Amino acid sequence: MARIFNFGAGPAVMPQAVLRKAQEELVDWHGSGMSVMEMSHRGKEFLDIAARAEASLRTLMGIPDTYKVLFLQGGASLQFAMVPINLLRGKTRADYLHTGEWSKKAIAEARRFGEVNVVASGEASGFTDIPAVSDWRLDPQAAYLHYTPNETIGGVEFPFIPDAGAVPLVADMSSTILSRPVDVSRFGLIYAGAQKNIGPSGLTVVIVREDLVGQALPGMPIMLDYRIHADNESMYNTPPTFPIYMAGLVFDWLKEQGGLAGMARINERKARLLYDAIEGSGGFYICPVAKACRSWMNVPFTLKDAGLDEAFLKESKAAGLLQLKGHRSVGGMRASLYNAMPEEGVAALVDFMRDFARRRG
Ligand SMILES: *Cc1c(COP(=O)(O)O)cnc(C)c1O
Repeated sequence: MARIFNFGAGPAVMPQAVLRKAQEELVDWHGSGMSVMEMSHRGKEFLDIAARAEASLRTLMGIPDTYKVLFLQGGASLQFAMVPINLLRGKTRADYLHTGEWSKKAIAEARRFGEVNVVASGEASGFTDIPAVSDWRLDPQAAYLHYTPNETIGGVEFPFIPDAGAVPLVADMSSTILSRPVDVSRFGLIYAGAQKNIGPSGLTVVIVREDLVGQALPGMPIMLDYRIHADNESMYNTPPTFPIYMAGLVFDWLKEQGGLAGMARINERKARLLYDAIEGSGGFYICPVAKACRSWMNVPFTLKDAGLDEAFLKESKAAGLLQLKGHRSVGGMRASLYNAMPEEGVAALVDFMRDFARRRG
């Protein structure tokens, strides 16, 4: 069997050790005589699996006891709506930072429920940089400040946590969660679709400070109220049981990598290897993103001669390096280097890029 190196942005590469473990346990989980996906979500076995997954996530991220961890569905895209529905709490305005495609979508959805103050926009730089903090127009009356710590498409990652003062900070961490340690107590709410750095698609993780739960807009579907999920341990209805189980296995694997501090050291090495190769290519490869906010997780780059794009994609695929095509909105290439991308994968990509540049440059 030959595994390729998968640089896709999501659904993305999973740790091979996790896939093997799931394969081992697939048909008969721990002598239960059934697969996890056949279990009742209210049975003892699955309740244990879910409780363990939550406990591991709490340990990995150092989540304080004053925060709820919710395992939901609907993707990060549903959180674009659930955040304003739940966090406006009688206020009319919310602050949003606009740094790329995903924050743009979050803003558009929030406008359906309230007034959005765009604190700052990266538009002038073509979303290749984070606007200077001195230019932000924060509203002290805002219900919350929303931002996207890592713009998966543009490859722009905040090297700092914004200071919102007393205003609750909300982060769409879909493509950066668990890639490095983070001080959860700085946030009112963190959400992430699972399919980048957590596990299979179908699961959305929400980490929310308890005092922000329970004031949803009236007249909304009950499923969109964090309170119903918090009060029912994410089991108000059938949760995505198999993705929760897989996420638990990924959390165990992360502990073996030295937790988030260990993962951060590996991720920094991987990112440096690729950015150095781009910088050292004499202009053959170009990364458009400002150096101070280059993402560790999603590395967009173009070829000086876009006429070589097709050859690059064809030959990289033949070399076992898959899903390198850039997002349709930006073109060029994008290499996603999530936690589960092994260092050998990045080394193989860099070797290929050097060889390709030598042959075609
Ligand atoms: C992928 C992604 C989304 C969309 O996630 P879905 O789970 O498909 O809704 C939103 N925000 C960011 C930052 C992402 O990377």
